[in-house]
Amino acid sequence: MSRDPRHDVLFEPVAIGPVTAKNRFYQVPHCNGMGRTFPSSMAAMRGVKAEGGWAVVSTEQVDFHPSSDLTPGTECRMWSDEDVPCLARMCDAVHAHGALALIELAHNGIYAANLYSREAPIFPSHMPLVGSVPAQARAMDKRDIREYRRWHLEAVKRAKRAGFDIVCCYAAHDLSVAGHFMLRRYNHRSDEYGGSLENRVRLFRELIEDAKEAVGDTMGVVARFAVDEMRGADGMEWDKEGREIVEMLAELPDLWDVNVADWDNDSQTSRFSEEGFQEPFISFVKQVTTRPVVSVGRYTSPDRMASLVRKGVLDFIGAARPSIADPFLPRKIEEGRPEDIRECIGCNICVSWNQVMSPMRCTQNPTKGEEWRRGWHPERIPAKATDDTVLVVGAGPAGLEAARAAGQRGYAVTLAEAGESLGGRVARECALPGLAAWGRVRDYRVYQLQQMGNVEVYPASRLDLAAVLELGASQVCIATGARWRRDGFGRAHQAPIPGADGANVFTPDDIMDGATPPGPVLVYDDDHYYMGGVIAEKLAAAGLAVTLVTPEITVSDWTRNTLEHGRVVARLMELGVELITGHELGGIGGQESRVRCVYSARERVLPAASVVMITSRLPDDALYHALTADETRLADAGIRAVRRIGDCHAPATIAAAVYEGHRFARELGESPADIPFRRELTALAEEFALP
Ligand code: ADP
Ligand code: SF4
Repeated sequence: MSRDPRHDVLFEPVAIGPVTAKNRFYQVPHCNGMGRTFPSSMAAMRGVKAEGGWAVVSTEQVDFHPSSDLTPGTECRMWSDEDVPCLARMCDAVHAHGALALIELAHNGIYAANLYSREAPIFPSHMPLVGSVPAQARAMDKRDIREYRRWHLEAVKRAKRAGFDIVCCYAAHDLSVAGHFMLRRYNHRSDEYGGSLENRVRLFRELIEDAKEAVGDTMGVVARFAVDEMRGADGMEWDKEGREIVEMLAELPDLWDVNVADWDNDSQTSRFSEEGFQEPFISFVKQVTTRPVVSVGRYTSPDRMASLVRKGVLDFIGAARPSIADPFLPRKIEEGRPEDIRECIGCNICVSWNQVMSPMRCTQNPTKGEEWRRGWHPERIPAKATDDTVLVVGAGPAGLEAARAAGQRGYAVTLAEAGESLGGRVARECALPGLAAWGRVRDYRVYQLQQMGNVEVYPASRLDLAAVLELGASQVCIATGARWRRDGFGRAHQAPIPGADGANVFTPDDIMDGATPPGPVLVYDDDHYYMGGVIAEKLAAAGLAVTLVTPEITVSDWTRNTLEHGRVVARLMELGVELITGHELGGIGGQESRVRCVYSARERVLPAASVVMITSRLPDDALYHALTADETRLADAGIRAVRRIGDCHAPATIAAAVYEGHRFARELGESPADIPFRRELTALAEEFALP
């Protein structure tokens, strides 16, 4: 297939100082929960992106001194020579596919509690640490600033030795001391590093100058700078000091990487922002510098990308999440098959795994994080190992991915779905407020299935035991999903809530099926992710009086990890939803319900003509149990194995359902292993070699 000529512009080479990127696709730095803790996984993950066509592949933030120690975070370090081999391995993986390797050197100031190094945190001024660690950062004196520059410079030189092509000086996300110096609210200094804007920018300028002087003839030097903090006059504003700073340093770096701060703003989810949401903030940059410019905005549309370049907004299309969801995005555009792109849905599951310091996973890309440990490639999969035929029952995210990946392997696959349409929970949930982009999980897979001659898809086909036996596929995959419980059983209640059997109790499934509960409505959220918030939002937007009650100390608690929490709470407040935290649901009556404080046990009565119960789900696994109850019957029907996956196996995220679907297909014809992945046994294993 030939490439659309309108996209040719995306494949022009662009110089970044002394090095040249082969095209305009630039994977910006992103954390991944692997880093120095799982270095083989990290390096392989970056290598796959280079293979997929990204011309620049970056690290996550790399701390350059023990006074910026993010323990228990997993981010890479460049503290000493001992850190070079780990990062060199990443460079090798990136270079193997002709891409440039970039390192982002960071020092986090008040975000670095230094729990491992036990160094006193440092900052432009005296300031308590972010979070609740009982400690403060001390104001840096002139000697500290000199030392700071020296540490940075040492790290730059080590980066060169590791093999990096580009070094990024970091002043973004409200996460960098060099950026903190620029901000009036943090910089209370009266020396030449405080006061005027020129003084406040001095340290960032010096870091760039130091890097250029040391390695500028062989490495590109990037300035990564948040031009706006989306907090009005309290912070950096793109049309005021943000612009002045770019003007001041305009030609100093070899490239400008510009975005908005903090991370919550930079990595907004699709629930709260559209593709290209940063454009209004960064589009001025190319007017004030001749250097190339990169920025992000969850870009997945090649037409949009090409237009950004042609309009003179960007020289490089930056991406973190779109490169996670589809490492082969550039190659697919280059090969003229953009319809094969697995578009990021903007859910931030990737971010949330990093936030809980675990290897990143992705809703759309089940191979993310498995590149090294299971050897899973995002595009390639081994051809089928047997002549098995495969029946997948249920076309939610788990069943769709199982059928897609088994079909890709070459198996003859039948996919049966009870509903009229495909997609399962994704099809239902993407109709809830803000979740439309989640439909991409279905759309990508349905399109791929349509291209396969060896997969037959039957909607409106509810299979029972007899039907499955009659079909007689040798491998049966049950992906029949789960339903929300009505009885209130969950984390806070391990017994039904009194009154939960009343006719005025609804579940999210009822609401998604079109039921409208009478108001006032009490939404009881013991699930703590998005469902409580979006159901409350939907009902409030429909004009109902809504109270959201949760036993947690805050609403939609997990959305803190997806960086959405502030926006979730603000939206519920704007809609007039009353928020009651730290309370359990004690009992449900006809027109009112009792809630109980989780600390004091004090009770309150709230008006509630109906209750929406969002506590936990039960697998829809009756078919699985009916099938597996009689092995002889299975054998007589020619069925060699029955496996359940996704929510029918154990209700969890959409990401987990897609993953289980993919894993089912990968493991077809394989014998199961107790630990089915390679573990990273790092230095200890080498030092204490077994006899
Ligand atoms: P998951 O997240 O694990 O993919 P979902 O709940 O999204 O689970 O999808 C399960 C799908 O299975 C639903 O679309 C449902 O209609 C379908 N389903 C449930 N039982 C049957 C059945 N017996 N035959 C065919 N499809 C079924
Ligand atoms: Fe995009 Fe969600 Fe995947 Fe992150 S987890 S890359 S936001 S689809």
